[in-house]
Amino acid sequence: MATGDPDDAPGDHVGTYRPPAAFVEQANVHEGLREAWDEQGAEAWATAADLLSWSTDYDAVLSNPEPPLTWFPGGELNAAYNAIDRYVESGRKNRVAIKWAGRLGETRTLTYQDLYHEVNALASALSELGVGEDDVVTLYLPMVPELTIAMLAAARLGAPHNVVFAGFSPDALAMRMESTESSYLLTCDGYLRQGEAVDQKNRADNARLALDHDVHTVVVDRMGFDVSLGEGEYHYADLVDDHGGETVEPVARASGDELFVLHTSGTTGNPKEVRHTTGGYLAHVAWTTHAVLDIEPEDTLWSSADIGWITGHSYGVYGPLLLGATTLLYEGTPEYNERDRLWELLERNAVDVFYTAPTAISSFRKRDVTVPDRFDLSSLRLLGTVGERISPSGWEWYRSTLGGGDAPIVDTWWQTETGGMMVATLPGVDEMKPGAAGPPLPGISVSVVDRSGDPVEPGERGFLIVDRPWPGMPTSLANGSGWAPDPSSYLVDVDGWAYVTGDRATVDEDGYVTVLGRVDDVVIVRGRRLGTAEIESAAMSVDGVAEAAVVSADGPAGPSLYAFVTPAGQETDELRERITQALEAAVGTSPVPATVVFTTDLPKTRSGKIMRRMLSNITDGDALGDTSALRNPEVVGELKSVLHGE
Ligand code: AMP
Repeated sequence: MATGDPDDAPGDHVGTYRPPAAFVEQANVHEGLREAWDEQGAEAWATAADLLSWSTDYDAVLSNPEPPLTWFPGGELNAAYNAIDRYVESGRKNRVAIKWAGRLGETRTLTYQDLYHEVNALASALSELGVGEDDVVTLYLPMVPELTIAMLAAARLGAPHNVVFAGFSPDALAMRMESTESSYLLTCDGYLRQGEAVDQKNRADNARLALDHDVHTVVVDRMGFDVSLGEGEYHYADLVDDHGGETVEPVARASGDELFVLHTSGTTGNPKEVRHTTGGYLAHVAWTTHAVLDIEPEDTLWSSADIGWITGHSYGVYGPLLLGATTLLYEGTPEYNERDRLWELLERNAVDVFYTAPTAISSFRKRDVTVPDRFDLSSLRLLGTVGERISPSGWEWYRSTLGGGDAPIVDTWWQTETGGMMVATLPGVDEMKPGAAGPPLPGISVSVVDRSGDPVEPGERGFLIVDRPWPGMPTSLANGSGWAPDPSSYLVDVDGWAYVTGDRATVDEDGYVTVLGRVDDVVIVRGRRLGTAEIESAAMSVDGVAEAAVVSADGPAGPSLYAFVTPAGQETDELRERITQALEAAVGTSPVPATVVFTTDLPKTRSGKIMRRMLSNITDGDALGDTSALRNPEVVGELKSVLHGE
């Protein structure tokens, strides 16, 4: 798992910190909350549901301790109503909902009233195109306001959205449309990626060619390209103009009805479809935005993740809008080469809470960046991280450089499947331990167990499981599939209810969880989970490559994607370059730190399975333990010498 310094071993805390008194005083939740929730059990989640407006009240908090489970059964609500209408109705219509910053310095500001107007117009147009309740609407758009608008327009109609990261290939888009039987697509003419114009419409067209069914396509004009439309294709601007001023009644959805589908990388490296509910998911997200990100309606939250990932859905769109706050959407990714842009965006938008991935933090920190004096970041009250483990020293750097030395940091552990945050400190309540995410949130129960499902001793490594249902759980779990013991869940044998997360972790005496990484064949790149199979097949498609295995690790080149490649012929710089390019293309975004390591062989089990875990351990410089399962143990020495010069 890519972290920061190799010397930052798990469980090494540089120190522990109490939240500053000034923060505690203004925080949304206070001392005693954990105890109060513990006493109430699942009932406590009513506090979260009560942050939402329900068109029909729910009858109970949780339907049943056995599957199928429904959170807030009997309740009905609409996500767009909750994110927009109720603020328009309550006299907050002129508050800013979305601040957008484009790649080229463009800006756009949408008030709740603006959002109401455009979401209604688009919903009306989509409804005329035939979109009805439960029809999946696919969105293949970069970080433009229209992406958020389209999510909310679909939600208004009771149509689940299916966001596909704009950098993904046409094949990936086709696969995600095929599996969800989606006949509606919103895309754009093009967009800028790393300064280069990408012809997104053309990519969408290629995906459509691979589909067996017809697709209605709506095209947003991002670049001003001259796009000629065929049958079943529409300009976004025309639709919104034609339907301007029309309103659409928000469709009341049952609490357990689907709000969206999003794909993540599963154990085999193939994408896994995750579906989230309306009531449970929204309650979970609204509550964690309130309690962990400490958002109040006056605040501006910048969650820097792309909306193509779950973090963008939960804390870039739904969380802040459900609370009537302002969300900042930036079209790029805060990276080192845009460092002044990061400071400028934080300052110009007076961002109160910044939420990003440790990878972004290390990309600044490695160059020893300090904030130039001309930028004033004093608006920042709270910082958050998600996506992978942050090293204690990276944590300290984040706090001292962006947080003015005393802003609390919430290190939040959660996944696409969990919908919202699961493990984190409450910023005005809990002590922080740099490097450890924290205790499970109130109302959440997790354990670290061994292969037999028994809790491990404090400090020992084990499998992280969630052993009580939670509101943001995906529909598959609520319906009773995906329960332990699940054949894909890595041999953990647990009695009773459990969701096996696929992460390895330790827990300390105080119940603080440190998540170490995945146990399966996926890698974390820039805080995102990607299947090894997709990336490896890209490397193997390069002429001159015999075999390839990919891991994410913190090796001699720093946190990076390491591709171990056995060449078919000569090891040349030119081959290395072609592999690097193929890896970047497969990951779908840039810049991806990718390191190619040539080797004569890969560590394999006797049955011929590549031992990726061993590759990560060798790269990280970790102890290898027993290598007797290896068919070719001699390769370990070769790799150590190539990587570490041992
Ligand atoms: P995804 O579903 O793509 O968001 O990826 C979720 C995975 O990211 C988790 O299963 C973890 O492996 C990793 N992850 C997320 N947050 C953290 C965190 N705070 N600390 C360590 N790992 C994390």
